Amino acid sequence: MPRVIPRAQHNLSRKQISRGALKVLYGLKDAGFRGCLVGGAVRDLLLGRRPKDFDIATDATPEEVRKLFRNCRLIGRRFRLAHVVFGPEIVEVATFRGTGDGEENGDRHVVDGRILRDNVWGSIEEDALRRDFRVNALYYDIADFSVLDYVGGIEDLEDRRLRLIGDPATRYHEDPVRMLRAARLAAKLGFTIDPAASAPFHDLGHLLEEAPSARLFDECQKMFLAGYSLSSFRMLEQCELLRHLFPVTVRALAHDASGVLRDLIERGLAGTDARIAEGRPVTPAFLFAVLLWGEVATLAAQLHADGVAQSLAWQRAAHRVMTEQGKRVAIPRRFGYAIEEIWALQPRFAERTRKRVFRLMAHPRFRAAYDFLLLRSGESDAVRESGEWWTQAQALSPEQLSESLAPKTAASPGDPPTTARRRRHRGGRRGKGSAAKPDPQA
Ligand code: ATP
Ligand code: MG
Repeated sequence: MPRVIPRAQHNLSRKQISRGALKVLYGLKDAGFRGCLVGGAVRDLLLGRRPKDFDIATDATPEEVRKLFRNCRLIGRRFRLAHVVFGPEIVEVATFRGTGDGEENGDRHVVDGRILRDNVWGSIEEDALRRDFRVNALYYDIADFSVLDYVGGIEDLEDRRLRLIGDPATRYHEDPVRMLRAARLAAKLGFTIDPAASAPFHDLGHLLEEAPSARLFDECQKMFLAGYSLSSFRMLEQCELLRHLFPVTVRALAHDASGVLRDLIERGLAGTDARIAEGRPVTPAFLFAVLLWGEVATLAAQLHADGVAQSLAWQRAAHRVMTEQGKRVAIPRRFGYAIEEIWALQPRFAERTRKRVFRLMAHPRFRAAYDFLLLRSGESDAVRESGEWWTQAQALSPEQLSESLAPKTAASPGDPPTTARRRRHRGGRRGKGSAAKPDPQA
């Protein structure tokens, strides 16, 4: 029997549920089916947070759901679901999953303890037991607005703790991505991971290396593009899971005695979180460029020192790093191009002739590459000064900027835009360390 929390004893109100989700819940109920809000939405609402999406569980099969709603399509093979579309909102409707012990009408495909397909229908109790964490297995029943707790989820919400349902090792073998979900949800909610749920990370983390790399990319997006990327990153490191997802990053951090790379990564992630908080757009490309930078920069420098021309060295380094990373997390090609461009533009910030400055500024990836340059300011004085130079350069009008630049000779990396002009007037000769104060009026 579940613990039933009647409407009068919880704070989850219909006003907080999206219009689309309410329509689906009532549509199911009116057709004689059960309709429950479930998962992250119930958890977040009980915690007083705004849910990311509203998932619904029902005893109607996907086909029955499709017949009920005109705006419905069935998706997924591994996990068959109905999507009901209301303008920009997509409400995900899942049929209660069963244990598969009896003679149910459905199919589940398990290989070496891993669940590859799960389309066995069952009761709500069974559905609760198949979910990952106890706090994710709470149901809000549209029939009487009560919250149903079959597994002790309320207790964990009160303790701010993530506990797995069932035996942790078995549940991670069934689906290794649950380890990442533990780290992600702990970071997002500020919960602790129950020691029994985190204990297997060390021995079972490697299972993530066999998880489909496309699914890991999706999971990375949820971890790093939802407003809590810095805490997710730290949690992944603490849980020893980062090395299975970003071996390249972990290797580079191991050689980062000065902490410069860590600083770049943490500032990059914090910046991404801040942008999301302000409602500004973010791209996975920038994020991956940040996470993989340490290795690509080292490799490019090595190749260049071995006599490979600079642009070729960058190309090769980028290719190697992306190939290695791609084995773990499948980065879609369009983002791959963007990442490589952000990197490849970095050495071009040192070129200060008029033609090259204007060409770089007109590059479609200039803005991202410039933001990236600013993150690198801890690397050396030259990089920091370069960042300042380009900040100044953008503050000038095109005419002012053009005026201040030498047509052919490159200025020294540390010079603000205005000094180049002064020097040109002096005959283009310059001595080291003679940088004049930038003049915003120039
Ligand atoms: P978020 O707030 O990020 O959406 P969520 O918990 O709602 O977090 P979803 O991916 O939306 O995450 O999943 C919805 C629900 O489906 C979860 O709360 C959980 O009950 C169940 N679920 C999702 N992934 C798994 C999994 N790998 N194994 C078991 N149950 C899962
Ligand atoms: Mg959700």
